[in-house]
Amino acid sequence: CGIVGYIGNKRAYPVLIKGLSRLEYRGYDSAGVALLADSEHLNIYKRKGKVQDLVDFIGENNTQGNIGIGHTRWATHGEPNDVNAHPHFSSDGNIALVHNGIIENYAILKKELINRGHIFKSETDTEVLIHLIEEIQHNTHTSLEEAVRLALNEVVGAYAIVILSKNEPDKLIAAKKSSPLVIGLGENEYYIASDATPIVEYTKNVVYLEDEQIAIINKDHGFRIINIANKEVNPYVQELEMQLEAL
Ligand code: GLU
Repeated sequence: CGIVGYIGNKRAYPVLIKGLSRLEYRGYDSAGVALLADSEHLNIYKRKGKVQDLVDFIGENNTQGNIGIGHTRWATHGEPNDVNAHPHFSSDGNIALVHNGIIENYAILKKELINRGHIFKSETDTEVLIHLIEEIQHNTHTSLEEAVRLALNEVVGAYAIVILSKNEPDKLIAAKKSSPLVIGLGENEYYIASDATPIVEYTKNVVYLEDEQIAIINKDHGFRIINIANKEVNPYVQELEMQLEAL
């Protein structure tokens, strides 16, 4: 179970695949990526099995884009299969999300969402998050980060999440509670991962997100951190001591 995210000027796909491979030691049953090619094209590929199975499955398909998220899944709710694999995406296909952890109150949230007309594709606890975010944005026309913040106020449980949207194609939103998430700060580029192993080869400057914090990461305008009560947080940038050789 691991998460990788990238936003910058490089192609995201190789960074994500390499990062997921570095996180393989954590164990997983499925893998997937979502790549934002431009504001028209969000390509999502996911597969039961190893990272290499995902790469074989993707083959020559479109893997363009400088923004992307990747996931290795350790199934907690719903069997390991292609549909339950992450990223999960909104009904309109515009928003994609990866999640590590468990949404403990997912059953009640799912029931309410179904009553309001949402159609679920997977058996995961995770999928309630994407429906909540989509519904909030649809009803209030608010920013992605505000929709994520409001959605997180409704969930009980553990999460490390990263989200991107076709409608706001210049940003990644990351948040965590009880599951780890690290942001690597490069030059006009940012890396996100469950631990520093996928990041250390690119940058030594990192911010460890703390519980109930949300990072809004924009390639050109930097990043900021708020908490789920909507208070600005001063990021604490640390220097990694980890050497690549030690991995
Ligand atoms: N609970 C989620 C699922 O079953 C995420 C599992 C994980 O941490 O990989 O899909």
